[in-house]
Amino acid sequence: MIKIAIVGAAGRMGKILVEACHENENVVLTVATEHPQSALIGADIGEVVGIGKNGVMIAPSLDVAEQDCDVVIDFTRPEPSISHLNWCVKNNKQLVLGTTGFNEEEKAQIQQAGESSALVFAANYSVGVTLSLKLLDTAARIMGEGVDIEIIEAHHRHKVDAPSGTALRMGEVIANALGRDLSQCAVYSREGIMGERDRNSIGFQAIRAGDIVGEHTVMFADIGERIEITHKASSRMTFAKGAVRSAVWVAKKGVDECGVFDMQDVLGLR
Ligand code: NAD
Repeated sequence: MIKIAIVGAAGRMGKILVEACHENENVVLTVATEHPQSALIGADIGEVVGIGKNGVMIAPSLDVAEQDCDVVIDFTRPEPSISHLNWCVKNNKQLVLGTTGFNEEEKAQIQQAGESSALVFAANYSVGVTLSLKLLDTAARIMGEGVDIEIIEAHHRHKVDAPSGTALRMGEVIANALGRDLSQCAVYSREGIMGERDRNSIGFQAIRAGDIVGEHTVMFADIGERIEITHKASSRMTFAKGAVRSAVWVAKKGVDECGVFDMQDVLGLR
């Protein structure tokens, strides 16, 4: 049985991750943490989530997990995630990281952690989005040069970062397939007289509204035809199940199998 620690366990994703662990017979939840200022510190996480008491009390830090966990799952915010990452490296724990919105320096720290430990880091843990990335790579190689590429994403009103990590990952996959550098060709907003569209650009549009779980459409538009690849998530459980599946996968890695892996590795798509 793989012992799991969930940080940010009372967050939107945290609660569903607790449920996903409860439903997966290969794992057991041994540790749940929350922000040290949270009013829920000391509460039973099973009760908070609504699956009944499970005896796991919400702790203010991961320190209680030193003896009692194999893999940490983190869907929180960039700053606490980096501190959890450092804790995992120091304590030889594997990590499944789902937080989005990291800056370049933080992304470099994540890559560096992969030199001495194994972690899974994906902007989107759904199987459907992982498959969509494969389809986008193919579409970009066949349609890409000369067509206009736009990525449109929609998320709920509480999401704090934009564009979504998934939209950016989609942009990276397309840019790589076309030999472009996303940092040079991405256009994140348009207003006023901007002139004609630069044919090499990849455009991003972000909608924030209501309770939309997560929707992404990538448009490859030529003169006379266009292809749109769309993924719609209707429940956060799809991300949570993918994250728990990743935890089971990474827990089987040996001590010398270090690296930063993603859902394509977990699903054996490489
Ligand atoms: P949320 O705000 O509901 O939850 C974040 C939780 O982290 C909160 O409960 C907060 O109290 C807690 N937290 C903050 N600092 C902490 C600390 N130091 N220690 C422990 N807990 C701490 O947000 P959410 O909607 O659950 O999203 C969380 C992150 O996951 C976001 O970055 C979001 O974009 C990302 N996300 C990723 C995927 C994916 O598949 N990769 C899917 C959905 C959401």
